[in-house]
Amino acid sequence: MTTPTTIRLYGTAPDSIVDGPGLRFAVFVQGCSHGCPGCHNPDSQPCGGGTVRAIDDLVAEIAANKLAQGITISGGEPFEQAAACTELARQCRVLGLNVWTYSGYTYEQLAAGVPDPAARDLLQQTDVLVDGPFVQACHSFELKWRGSSNQRLIDVPATQRAGHVVLWETEDYLPRKPASW
Ligand code: SF4
Repeated sequence: MTTPTTIRLYGTAPDSIVDGPGLRFAVFVQGCSHGCPGCHNPDSQPCGGGTVRAIDDLVAEIAANKLAQGITISGGEPFEQAAACTELARQCRVLGLNVWTYSGYTYEQLAAGVPDPAARDLLQQTDVLVDGPFVQACHSFELKWRGSSNQRLIDVPATQRAGHVVLWETEDYLPRKPASW
């Protein structure tokens, strides 16, 4: 398969502190078929909207951001542009950045090749997957990095090694008080 050179974007946030731990370069893709009631980003749903961007150009912008510790690919639905997001994630990992990916699909669906066999490739390039649709009845502002309690923070490499879902542990990433305080 030809490697994609472009990606359809809803937008970017070069200094996000709400899409995963630390300071992150967040990439919001355009297009999502889930239609979750109460979606936080309804303008990102139409698949023909947004802007088309060269992946190399986007990676160059990310590389120039010396403060970001990782990238977060959200949306929209990243796995409905799985091949393009895989290439983006691959190039960012070469830069030493970790990759968080959000999806309205569950890990089990993605591992089974839904919505596209390329979903497995994007999982391979993902460190942490936040999975599942937004469910209004499960919404809480108390949740960290996810909107509803059905969604999971999944350590993808550990999950693939174990053969079952392994949740990502957050403690090491929480800010700690200096000992002198
Ligand atoms: S998966 Fe995310 S972007 Fe898509 S409809 Fe649901 S909340 Fe909105």
